[in-house]
Amino acid sequence: MGQHLSRTVAEGRAFMQLINGQPADALSGERIDVVSPSDGKVFASIPAAGAADIDRAVKSSREAFENGPWSRMPAFERGRLLTRLGLLIEKNGDELAALESRDTGKPIRQGKADVTSTMRYYEFYGGAADKIHGDTIPFLDGYTALTLREPHGVVAGIIPWNYPMQILARVAGAAFAMGNTLVVKPAEDASLTTIRIAELALEAGFPEGVFNVVTGYGRDAGAALSAHRDIDYVTFTGSTMTGTAIQQAAAINNRGVTMELGGKSPQIVFADADIEKALPVLVNAIIQNGGQTCSAGSRVLIEKPIYEAVSTELAARFGKLVAAPHDADGDLGPMVNKKQQGQVKSFIAAAEEAGVSVLARGSVDPSAPQNGFYVAPALFGSVDPKANIAQQEVFGPVLSLFAFEGEEEAVRLANSTDYGLVAGVWTKDGARQHRVAKKVRAGQVFVNGYGAGGGIELPFGGFKKSGHGREKGFEALYDMSATKTIVFNHG
Ligand code: ADP
Repeated sequence: MGQHLSRTVAEGRAFMQLINGQPADALSGERIDVVSPSDGKVFASIPAAGAADIDRAVKSSREAFENGPWSRMPAFERGRLLTRLGLLIEKNGDELAALESRDTGKPIRQGKADVTSTMRYYEFYGGAADKIHGDTIPFLDGYTALTLREPHGVVAGIIPWNYPMQILARVAGAAFAMGNTLVVKPAEDASLTTIRIAELALEAGFPEGVFNVVTGYGRDAGAALSAHRDIDYVTFTGSTMTGTAIQQAAAINNRGVTMELGGKSPQIVFADADIEKALPVLVNAIIQNGGQTCSAGSRVLIEKPIYEAVSTELAARFGKLVAAPHDADGDLGPMVNKKQQGQVKSFIAAAEEAGVSVLARGSVDPSAPQNGFYVAPALFGSVDPKANIAQQEVFGPVLSLFAFEGEEEAVRLANSTDYGLVAGVWTKDGARQHRVAKKVRAGQVFVNGYGAGGGIELPFGGFKKSGHGREKGFEALYDMSATKTIVFNHG
């Protein structure tokens, strides 16, 4: 794909919500400017929905769930629709990658990788739709007891801006496989691919009202959706603070929630590790998507005998990293918006002011537009585990290194934040691999590797403030459904 498409992909398009199979402006007529993070310029706009728009979308999804063709469709046919959607995503892959990349600022190769994962989610859940079974349960004499997995009903999906297409896919794939209908609110900073994918779903043959998209600000559209009394279940990926607000809103109606929130994920490097194999993975785990990844590997814990060698190597690699516009396909793109750029820069400045040692800074491509939201990556060494930069989620290209002595200290440091999303363990000692993997409080642990956000087949979610509930893999199908027990008394 040339630079051309990723610069022009949204030109001349009026982006609309999709409610009941029809393009819909906000009832108020208000719109939100869409800004390219690469140059700070407005290149499109989206409707700014309010509570009345949310109401329309929820009513449509309710009707589709209760009375539409969806409610009578066998699981294998729902699966077929998902598979067809996956194929359409593949067919329109260049356009989707360009749209995602322009909208979020991520390098175009990441946009393409996101298309591949997105396609795989629909393929995976398309195949899974008719493979979830209930149980028969041995009960009293004269009874037969069984369970059904039933859809929740109307699910609200509130999606963040970092991996919009992929996160929508893991929510929609699992929700539709189990027979739910969905009202999705993408982030105000990255709604374009969600709109496009809902259009493709109509083309694939999804009945109207099954997949509704509302766009708008979190405080208006998002808040109205999560508190709506006719929503049966809420799934959210995003910051821990917003997750708390959404849970409180959903609690008004006592609705279930899945929360995939922040992280401060550690990678533990023991002295016997294969360092050459680890180094590129340690860098990529924090640089991928500019560090705007909930599962970014933002802390590296290094055993003392190899601390100097590993930190020197990491500093050499960090010094060469270049942030560049999305279509230049640099090591990383800009941050998603000005606010995010400001937050990351102030984390770096505050750590520097507090005297944390800066081992290396990357750079910003000198030809990058001045008004883009760029941040030069930063590597901090010998960080105090209690320091702000060691505890808070930065959500940017900022890596902190820590020295440890022995397994016990490694585990203690790994578990010393409020978060527990992902961890990496690097060692050749098999027994230690098992011991440490079990002791680290994280929803996913990778041994001699690291998958920031990767693996659609792998259950994913947090401990502690990283959230609860599990997405991805088969697990997500259980979160997206409820067990009904039926007992027959036949005497
Ligand atoms: P950021 O702080 O970077 O905007 P958030 O985690 O707040 O990231 O945003 C993730 C998603 O949550 C977006 O779709 C956003 O619109 C939505 N959102 C933000 N605030 C609220 C809220 N109070 N209620 C519901 N949704 C919200």
